[in-house]
Amino acid sequence: MSPLWRPAYVAVGSNLNSPRERVLEAIERMGRLPATRLLLRSRLYSTRPMGPQDQPHFVNAAVGLLTQLAPQELLSALLRIEQTLGRDRRQRWGPRVIDLDLLWMIDSPVCEPGLTVPHPGVSTRNFVLYPLADIAPTIKIPKVGNVLDLKRDAGGDGISVLE
Ligand code: AMP
Repeated sequence: MSPLWRPAYVAVGSNLNSPRERVLEAIERMGRLPATRLLLRSRLYSTRPMGPQDQPHFVNAAVGLLTQLAPQELLSALLRIEQTLGRDRRQRWGPRVIDLDLLWMIDSPVCEPGLTVPHPGVSTRNFVLYPLADIAPTIKIPKVGNVLDLKRDAGGDGISVLE
């Protein structure tokens, strides 16, 4: 753990077991992580699934944290929350109780087995960019782009605001 408090952005998604409640539960648990403060929460979105279409729509959101955790420590904490909520990883792009992705952490690019930050999906996925633009519209992710530009380019196909 470093004494520096750094902003980190996390995408949240669920399409099983009462998705709205699971998303809110994951967010609440992120707010209780050590050395971490939950500062921002996007609106909730209903989104069409990526990949196999024979699964329910997702509920997606994004949060802004301030954390002293290193990216690897934060990822481990996110994976523990996924496990607690009953995540099972059998099918790629399949239905899931919860999915937490570390989108970006300021001044902390990582490219190693098991962790890539910025997350590779952040540049094109509208179900990530719409919520992220709610809480961080002005940020520029190095080597990726401005969130609002990325959101515009991704388009709003299959996405609607839930609340
Ligand atoms: P998924 O099943 O799509 O949620 O992928 C989860 C796996 O992706 C985790 O076991 C992580 O090791 C890996 N991963 C790599 N980069 C990231 C990231 N930025 N955020 C979350 N998971 C990541």
